[in-house]
Amino acid sequence: MGTPIGNLGDLTPRAIETLAAADLVCCEDTRRTGRLLQHAGIRAAALRVVNDHTEDGAVGDVLARLGRGEVVAVVSDAGMPGISDPGERLVAAAAEAGFTIEVVPGPSAAISALVASGLPAGRFAFEGFLPRKGSGRTERLAAIVGERRTVVLYEAPHRVARTLADLAASCGGDRRIVLARELTKLHEEHWRGTLAGAVQHAADVEPRGEYVLVLDGAPEPAEVTDGDIAAALAQARAAGASTRDAVTEVAADLGVAKRRVYALATS
Ligand code: SAM
Repeated sequence: MGTPIGNLGDLTPRAIETLAAADLVCCEDTRRTGRLLQHAGIRAAALRVVNDHTEDGAVGDVLARLGRGEVVAVVSDAGMPGISDPGERLVAAAAEAGFTIEVVPGPSAAISALVASGLPAGRFAFEGFLPRKGSGRTERLAAIVGERRTVVLYEAPHRVARTLADLAASCGGDRRIVLARELTKLHEEHWRGTLAGAVQHAADVEPRGEYVLVLDGAPEPAEVTDGDIAAALAQARAAGASTRDAVTEVAADLGVAKRRVYALATS
């Protein structure tokens, strides 16, 4: 079930009812969820810590409770569980065991940022947090370069500048981006501009608070005309390539079918 991402007013009446009725509330941090329960005037029957380290160990107890007909609520510190947060494994295990799963929807920073970004929201790719380094990071950045859908990323404030620089280096400085900061909180802000501008912005104003990065999708590749192919063929031949080699080279460079290039090369 969803919990607020900053504004306690976003705790829904149904979430309050569910928390009050649950036999067990699985949460990341008992103090944080305790404060939320206190705000809602609820005394939960029982709380259990479920985080990256303890989620697998909690599965047995949760399934046993569900088997006895108990109701188990799963929350994370903020937003929807399972979205860059624990919860997914408990849901998967309960679903696999045939128990009823009900969702109590609430805010999620990703959807909130996407909707407010003004960037195309019809299709989007949620990337969560990028790996911090290594080939995992390089591969994900490479995939983002060609991603045509709007891309939504989470990032910790002290890594925002570095991630913006890496995105600008990979995607080019002209790609549009919206930096959604402190959503639903007092200092909510949506900075809109290009990747190059965002790199400068992060250098001018040290990123603080919570951020979602909403990146425009890659532009449609320009259509390759017969004229483009003929010009590339002429260039390859002038450089000494045989017809066969020129066709292979041009087809690969322009991303078009070899058959089409061959037909133009021999017409
Ligand atoms: N499960 C959560 C959800 O549904 O949004 C996300 C949890 S993830 C561990 C935390 C990240 O979400 C933060 O680092 C930040 O990128 C983003 N986030 C959470 N709350 C936010 C807020 N109020 N404003 C902007 N970003 C937020």
